[in-house]
Amino acid sequence: MEGPQFNSRIVGRFAPTPSGDMHLGNLLCALTAYLSAKSKGGKYIVRIEDLDPIRSPRSGGYKILDTLCAFGLEGDEKPIFQSDRSELYREKELVLERMGLTYPCYCSRAELHAAEAPRLSDGSVVYSGKCKRLSDEERAKAEKTRKPCVRVRVPDKVISFTDALCGTYSQNLESECGDFIIRRSDGVYAYQLAVTVDDGEQGVTEVVRGEDLLSSTPRQIYLMRLFGYREPSYIHIPLVCDSAGRKLSKTEGDRIAENLKRLQKERILGALGYAMGLIEKDRAADLQELTELFSVEKIARGGVRLPPSLQ
Ligand code: GLU
Repeated sequence: MEGPQFNSRIVGRFAPTPSGDMHLGNLLCALTAYLSAKSKGGKYIVRIEDLDPIRSPRSGGYKILDTLCAFGLEGDEKPIFQSDRSELYREKELVLERMGLTYPCYCSRAELHAAEAPRLSDGSVVYSGKCKRLSDEERAKAEKTRKPCVRVRVPDKVISFTDALCGTYSQNLESECGDFIIRRSDGVYAYQLAVTVDDGEQGVTEVVRGEDLLSSTPRQIYLMRLFGYREPSYIHIPLVCDSAGRKLSKTEGDRIAENLKRLQKERILGALGYAMGLIEKDRAADLQELTELFSVEKIARGGVRLPPSLQ
């Protein structure tokens, strides 16, 4: 039997980290990724970003998949789990190593967050490059007391891209980001490396995610270019607030399950479609109707507020 046919030139994805219960903002992100891909006849896939075995356990991934399933958003293919893919990330780390772009970094958290460290507007620290300049002797000494993380060197170069909602975004990798971590000192691969390798290997052509990840994108584009992957397009969606204007949090309990006890799934999907600006009224709508109505231009800019029907 033949499987569903897709326009294979379009591949969208939802890539949640199972570090807590999915909230309605995550569901809205999954829905947007689905609608954007499906409105162009494309494929939509799900990837569980369970890199951190303690903070993001695999079991949390299964729970997210159950929630997605309840809405028909579980993906067109069997989802992949990043925790199964360390060998692939290792291969890609070696590619960067062979290019002479990686180095071990022994700096402690306290050293990194020292008062004089330059900071970006989001509070993150621009790495000074200290360990890049270690002599062999200094490195051998550091090796005795601490396990290093691995960083990738960045050039003094501006990376720009145009986001479908946020417009043009530019970042100088050296002054605004610094050499960044691709493998943690405990051996766990870092988000920036894993997400880039997976988007590249899975042939993702459009990345839909929260606006909070806008400033990660230049690092990912940099890696994409080094690996020779095709660069996807980006839709960074506004952060979602509840009807009282409060930011949603993963620690509030499973609001999606609570809403599903009271409301039919189409009622929840319709409320999300309404919050996004796809329909005029807070009413029931199914995936097919929302797909037909979807266009990225309709998405509310600057912040999405959920209607009171969703608790
Ligand atoms: N896994 C990330 C998160 O849940 C999102 C990654 C992405 O969409 O690029 O915050």
